[in-house]
Amino acid sequence: MAVYDTTLTQELKKTAFRNHVDLIGVTELRVFDDIPTRDKPMKILSDAKAVVVYAVKFESVAELSKESWYSRMEKLLTLIDKKLRGFLTEKGYKAHSFTTEIDFHLWTDELHKRPFSERSLARQRRWYGVYHRLQDAAVSAGLGRVGKNRLLVTPQYGPSVHLSMIITDAPLEPDAPCDGNPCAGCNLCLEACPTGALIGRERPDESKCKPWNCRFACLRVCHENFLEQRQQLDEQQKST
Ligand code: SF4
Ligand code: SF4
Repeated sequence: MAVYDTTLTQELKKTAFRNHVDLIGVTELRVFDDIPTRDKPMKILSDAKAVVVYAVKFESVAELSKESWYSRMEKLLTLIDKKLRGFLTEKGYKAHSFTTEIDFHLWTDELHKRPFSERSLARQRRWYGVYHRLQDAAVSAGLGRVGKNRLLVTPQYGPSVHLSMIITDAPLEPDAPCDGNPCAGCNLCLEACPTGALIGRERPDESKCKPWNCRFACLRVCHENFLEQRQQLDEQQKST
């Protein structure tokens, strides 16, 4: 039976909250069981035991259309990753993090413009496979549920979070997945999607999904709906 270090887990979470993290959870590696071996976290850290997933909230969906937002978020996540890795390595464990080990530009148009070493490319391909499971890892770590817009919807901040992950050999205690269905009685994102990209697939149909044209309509309506519900709840609580 696995033995977990509860104190270490709590200290890691406290460190995260002191460093701009809004939500954090831990999952075991089972969430990666059904993916090809070449994409598993063990390819990044052979004796990996846990994946830490954390979220940083954002306030405005309009910000997402600005390039400056991405570089700000990249800097913030890199800073957080370094702090959390530093915490784990000081305690004697190994830790690898997404934002400090991949080059974001590799996954954009820059891919074709910049030279990368074979070693760097191989490492980034491995992360690419693991990163595709980031949302599943977030669900397993208890951060939220996947909504009909195929985004992670958290109870605290709705879909307006940015995620990152750390892979470690530390015996961190896993969290339980979230209860509840964030989409009960709601179809706003399906109605807002102008291209039908959300219908009938596990992920948005990439050939139809044009976020820059629709200005992230499925995210925007969910964000606004979430804020409205929060406001109503706050008002109800004040009046009781
Ligand atoms: S807009 Fe409604 S249906 Fe769509 S993900 Fe958000 S809560 Fe779920
Ligand atoms: S980003 Fe736009 S096109 Fe893509 S699924 Fe959402 S609403 Fe549809």
